[in-house]
Amino acid sequence: MTKIAILPGDGIGPEVVREALKVLEIVEKKMEKKFEKVFGYIGGDAIDKFGEPLPEETKKICLEADAIFLGSVGGPKWDDLPPQKRPEIGGLLALRKMLNLYANIRPIRVYKSLVTISPLKEEVIRDGVDLVTVRELSYGVYYGEPRGIDEEKGFDTMIYDRKTVERIARTAFKIARSRRKKVTSVDKANVLYSSMLWRKVVSEVAVEYPDVELSHMYVDNAAMQLVLKPSQFDVILTTNMFGDIISDESAALPGSLGLLPSASFGDKNLYEPAGGSAPDIAGKNVANPIAQILSLAMMLEYSFGMAEVARKIERAVEMVIDEGYRTKDIADDPEKAVSTSRMGDLICRKLEEIW
Ligand code: NAD
Repeated sequence: MTKIAILPGDGIGPEVVREALKVLEIVEKKMEKKFEKVFGYIGGDAIDKFGEPLPEETKKICLEADAIFLGSVGGPKWDDLPPQKRPEIGGLLALRKMLNLYANIRPIRVYKSLVTISPLKEEVIRDGVDLVTVRELSYGVYYGEPRGIDEEKGFDTMIYDRKTVERIARTAFKIARSRRKKVTSVDKANVLYSSMLWRKVVSEVAVEYPDVELSHMYVDNAAMQLVLKPSQFDVILTTNMFGDIISDESAALPGSLGLLPSASFGDKNLYEPAGGSAPDIAGKNVANPIAQILSLAMMLEYSFGMAEVARKIERAVEMVIDEGYRTKDIADDPEKAVSTSRMGDLICRKLEEIW
């Protein structure tokens, strides 16, 4: 049986994971397929129970699973611990490292009925924003050697090799094939040697995907184009550091972190919302479960080949938003906002309706 490791974590994690699991239950019923769900502890939750943020038991659960579905970690309760013992570094970063993640996939959508909460002007986003950043995660300047610091200088090495670029490029082209078939590769090939190789290899890989249109863009221009005309992008393929910046810039466009899912590919794939544990609203049943529900859709598509089911979940989410239902983070009038559990129920009901 297909096995999912479920790590709800801290803050709003357990609340929003619960809603996503309701959606999974409907999928199981409709598809007549059962997933084995194994729950594990991570982050502050694990520190409280086991004294460490990534216990052996959790590692084992993750390594034996076909995919990992995570809420979020961290919170003020654990902020005074030494860095390696904290939920974020000792828990989530250690898990990511253990999984040898090489790609981070972040879809960004500005829903038509939510244009007013985007920080961009309506006329800029009227054409719709529906893009995915595919960020290389395992290489580049964050890991290149030599690196170091002394009293007089600090230095890092930005390095990319052919194999690494080929792998991430193929990931991006495959994703583009299931979308609008456009890849924009973002680099700094006018200045950086590592980017010159990046551009050359991406262009070579593109030949394997003749149905996908490839263009190249310098990262400074891409940063500008994202706020001037975001509708031009479908799949943005980029390096570790450029992706770090570009994906956060694009994350600002929809207007709430509560809408943004993510996936990371590695030895095992990890699915989690782009936002954190939101301790300011935890335990109040007000968090937006959509990011977690869309992360579930990504898991069904990328780990279990259920693209059609993923599209159905995305459609149910969009229809519920179009009908005017809002959690507090996306509501014009917070008085009329629905709770986390109500939003989950509405999406489930809609999913059943449109199945
Ligand atoms: P955050 O993403 O948790 O919150 C930022 C803001 O966005 C807050 O106002 C929060 O209420 C809001 N928000 C986030 N998700 C939301 C949702 N689903 N619905 C409604 N509103 C939502 O970032 P932060 O405040 O910088 O960090 C809080 C804690 O989370 C820290 O301990 C941090 O280390 C941790 N963190 C964890 C992850 C992760 O687990 N992947 C990522 C980022 C931060």
